Amino acid sequence: MVNVSLAGVTLTYPGASRPSIDAIDLEIEHGELLVLVGPSGCGKSTTLRALAGLEFPEAGSIAFGDRDVTGLDGSERDVAMVFQSYALYPHMTVAGNMEFSLKNTKVPAAERQRLVADAASLLELDGLLERKPRELSGGQRQRVAMGRAIVRRPAVFLMDEPLSNLDAKLRVQTRGQIASLQRTLDVTTVYVTHDQTEAMTMGDRVVVMNHGRIEQVGTPRELYDEPETLFVAGFIGSPQMNLVEGTWSDAEGARVGDLALPFRASAPHSGTALTYGIRPEDLELVTDAGDDATAIRLVVDLVEELGSDTFVYGTGHGVRWTARLPKGARPAIGDGLAFAVRRDAVLGFEPTTGHRIR
Ligand code: ADP
Ligand code: MG
Repeated sequence: MVNVSLAGVTLTYPGASRPSIDAIDLEIEHGELLVLVGPSGCGKSTTLRALAGLEFPEAGSIAFGDRDVTGLDGSERDVAMVFQSYALYPHMTVAGNMEFSLKNTKVPAAERQRLVADAASLLELDGLLERKPRELSGGQRQRVAMGRAIVRRPAVFLMDEPLSNLDAKLRVQTRGQIASLQRTLDVTTVYVTHDQTEAMTMGDRVVVMNHGRIEQVGTPRELYDEPETLFVAGFIGSPQMNLVEGTWSDAEGARVGDLALPFRASAPHSGTALTYGIRPEDLELVTDAGDDATAIRLVVDLVEELGSDTFVYGTGHGVRWTARLPKGARPAIGDGLAFAVRRDAVLGFEPTTGHRIR
């Protein structure tokens, strides 16, 4: 069941020369955790603010269920938003902060207490209800901000980079908690982040945005395995997918300098420049490449040892490559290594439009 839909939503801020979001079409299922991801300035917060009723589009429409909410204020939409700067009231206790919006909407005291107690137990804040924000850790404050949203039992949660103020370890822990809490509550949630790892680990589906437009919508697996544009190919995955300039022709096949790649495009692309994409883990280290024209040969100039993985960076065939090495490999700078490309691992993109070609 579709719970939230945007159709052709376009929004230009006063005085701006171009729209901050441009013709956004999106359907969000009931209970789904949908993540908007993209670089800073791509329009994530603007999309969320349009959903929240804090900004109003000049074109397009927004519906919650079968109700058109395009012109409605946030207060009439039954949404709760969690911001990056979750600004708690410093003079109020945790309980006071959490029940504040309920007081405003005249929920009776006994009901408020019950809702706050329920949210506190979900968020493991039970023992902290009488504390002031300054007596809490960053992670606990963040959970109070979540609690403030949860007690309202909204139809839709909107979260704008809620973990940005936490340190790296706490972010990882908290993103797991938010994702599992969201599943427990079963409330449709739109979550914004610039961090592709956060997007991939949390989202049921992920929307990749760029320059105010949607590049692609898919499950994390679909975006990783089948990116439809160069932008998505480069944005999703860390370290980045190898994206190298080459050519394709019927007679010669796929070429990057003197390297032949296992890729076939359809006839209309013959004789054209293509950009090839290969994930670092799809380069397979080989010890005896001989004079194989399909082996990628590179000279290592950087080694990244992550414990579970080792990545090497180096130049070969006139371009730079990143490759993941098997556990136990001990590469050194200056080593010459050869790699076979795994079957079906090469993607082709049209360099000017960025579109995937098949
Ligand atoms: P993101 O959240 O993805 O970083 P935003 O939605 O905040 O991006 O911004 C999208 C674009 O709109 C940016 O170019 C930004 O500078 C511009 N923008 C955001 N808010 C305003 C505003 N209040 N007035 C004018 N331009 C804005
Ligand atoms: Mg933003």
